[in-house]
Amino acid sequence: NREQFIHSERLNVVSELSASVSHEIRNPLTVTSGFLQLLKKSKTITQEERKYIELSLQELNRAEKIVSNYLSFAKPQSENMVYSNFFAETEYAKDLIIPYASMHQVEVQFHFNNTLNTRYDQNQIQQCLINLYKNGIEAMKDTGGGTLLIDVSEIKHHIIIKIQDTGIGMTREQISRLGKPYYSTKEKGTGLGMLMVYSTINKVNGTIEIDSQKGKGTTFLLKIPSQS
Ligand code: ADP
Ligand code: MG
Repeated sequence: NREQFIHSERLNVVSELSASVSHEIRNPLTVTSGFLQLLKKSKTITQEERKYIELSLQELNRAEKIVSNYLSFAKPQSENMVYSNFFAETEYAKDLIIPYASMHQVEVQFHFNNTLNTRYDQNQIQQCLINLYKNGIEAMKDTGGGTLLIDVSEIKHHIIIKIQDTGIGMTREQISRLGKPYYSTKEKGTGLGMLMVYSTINKVNGTIEIDSQKGKGTTFLLKIPSQS
């Protein structure tokens, strides 16, 4: 029952996202930021607690940016463009999800062995990776944990990012629905994560291969052409 799918490209579904989504998400973000700012000023919290608040604020800030970017999906922000090898982004996203991983008994392994560069929007790539890492962890959270493997390497002018989990896996039918707006099997899911992933990888002319086995786990293989 091994299912393999190759999506070489995905239709541009961005237009299906309405402006009202971004607007409605921005409000709770602003309110939450406000309360966290207040909390940060408290004299009774520890240094460590303050650090958590800082991190939460940073992430909310980023969420705000991403929401803004959601509607301008098609055009990367010029100030975020870099010519690089994905190390900073894959590592940054990994560090961010470590607490979430430990909370769900997931061990994260990270290997980086790539010297190829390409041009990309750092924020978008970070968000894309966070979505993939997060999905991997969420696939393992009801199975008592597991291992999330992140492996970056290169093959023939392509940067290869492998993200592998030992989670619940997907059926062929489920795989084919990935990236459709609002497709989610989670109680509190948005079904926007994979849409973002497809759109971002499409923009760097990359492809996404998915290899999944129900009850065993899933591997996402991103192949992104390098640019000289
Ligand atoms: P959300 O995570 O909010 O549900 P996503 O677009 O990120 O939305 O993912 C859509 C759906 O794809 C998930 O609800 C889940 O059913 C499935 N999925 C994505 N990644 C994985 C994975 N690594 N293992 C199993 N299922 C996955
Ligand atoms: Mg998700």
